[in-house]
Formats: sequence, structure tokens, C-alpha cells
Amino acid sequence: MNRRLKSILQKTDLYHPLQTSYRAGRTWLTNQLYKLTYRPHKGPGLTCNFCGAEYKKFVPEVPGPDIAPAIQGNNVIAGYGQNVYCPRCLSKNRERLIKAVIEKYLPLAPAARILHFSPEKNLYRWLKHHASITTVDTAPRFYTRIDPTIRYADATRLPFNNHSFDLVIANHILEHIPEDQMAMHEIHRVLAPEGIAILQVPYSPTLPATLEDPEIDDPGRQAALYGQQDHVRIYAFADYLRRLAKAGFNVHVLNPEDLAEFRIYATQPTESVFLCYQH
Ligand SMILES: [Zn+2]
Repeated sequence: MNRRLKSILQKTDLYHPLQTSYRAGRTWLTNQLYKLTYRPHKGPGLTCNFCGAEYKKFVPEVPGPDIAPAIQGNNVIAGYGQNVYCPRCLSKNRERLIKAVIEKYLPLAPAARILHFSPEKNLYRWLKHHASITTVDTAPRFYTRIDPTIRYADATRLPFNNHSFDLVIANHILEHIPEDQMAMHEIHRVLAPEGIAILQVPYSPTLPATLEDPEIDDPGRQAALYGQQDHVRIYAFADYLRRLAKAGFNVHVLNPEDLAEFRIYATQPTESVFLCYQH
């Protein structure tokens, strides 16, 4: 959008509603297109664990040329691949993985209290039927179509009492936060003593150290360095675990081999899941 027009709309408070409607319209159109073009690929092979659709292949998402060197050069497990979006409901591979993990490993008590950062539509709607769920984001107006009750929250200063939640889901959030260690401490603080956080991030299994530079505050450079213009780092796998432990978490990693049974849901074959226990 033109910068001047954007500035005028922001002053009149129309920017977010228009932006949200535009995005919703674009998503709807994309969805119709996928449903049509993937009709020939219907059939057994991959199943969406949200809508139940079966296709021989899902919709791919590959990194563009501006970010491919950062993603591929650092072997980042970032969610790209050949089977990313369900053609029918547009669920993403990382949502389907979290649902499968919760169903198998973290059965939810009916009274479970969940905190969901930047809620993904399909995951949120499914969780809502099973538990009491609170959603937060730093730009809540972008999510009101998913949850009208979403509230503003800065992950480094969460507006919740200690031990308020049984499950926290921050699915690809921490890589956006400069003070990630503080956010990890906050998530640990608001978790109940028996609580668990699922804290997924893009990470590199081969980088010797986390790639980050607090001096860099430029979307173009961030895209080229980290693979997305609003990311502030690429975590090295071992360093990510170290930071979680420093925040007080007892981390259990589900490796790709542990998650192989979920491949039928077109999950990312190389992704690990970080189950972070409060104690
Ligand atoms: Zn689906």
C-alpha cells in the first residue's frame, strides 16, 4: 500500500479494518483457487487433521529469492516445503503438527486454561471447543476476525498473574522478539507448576551459534539475514535449548522420528517440537 495513503488511513483509524478486510478477501479468493486447482489431486495420501480433507498433495510454499539464501544456506527448519497448506481449509503444516502433538501427548482437561499467542485460525477454533482460551498479540486488531476478544499483550511483560495457564502456545513467535529471554521468563512465570508451553521457532540444526545482531533494524536486511523481514534472529538448535533452560524450563524435545506418525497430516518432516515444562 502507498505509504502516504497508509499514513492517512492510520490517522483516521481505518487502516487496520481495511487491511484486515483486504487480507480476508485475498485469503478467501486464494482458498477458492486452491479448491479448484487441487480437485484432481483429491484422494488418499495426506489428510488434514482439521477439516478431514484427503489429497495426494497439499499446497507448497517455497522461500522467495530474497530470503532463500538465509533459509537454505543455514538449513533452517522454517515451515517451507512441498505440502504446507491444506487446499480445503488452508491450515498450515505447523498448525496441524501442534494439533497432532496435543492430541497424542497433552490431552486437555475440560477446564484447561490456554494462552495462545497470535492465534492461528484453525488451531484456535479447535482449541476453543476443548478448553478456556485467551489470545494475545501486539497488534490484536489483525486477529479480531479469528477471536473478537483477543487482547493486546507484550510477551516480555505479560498482563497475567503467576501460574495463570496450563498450556501456552507460541507457535513461531519468539524469533520476532528482540528480548526473547525476557519473553521466555514471562511465559514460564504465567504457567501453572504442572503447565507446559509449546514454543516453536524456526531453527538451524547446523548453525554453531544463534544468528542475531541487535544493531540491525531494517526489514530488508532482516529478510536477507534471517529469512523474514520481521524476524530478529535464526536460532541455533542447541542455543535455543540453552535459552529455554535459562528461563527455567525443563525441555523435552520430540524429534522428527518421534513425530513420523504425523506425516500423514502433511507435517514438516524435519521439524522437532519443543515441549517446555514449567518444572
Ligand atoms: Zn483442511
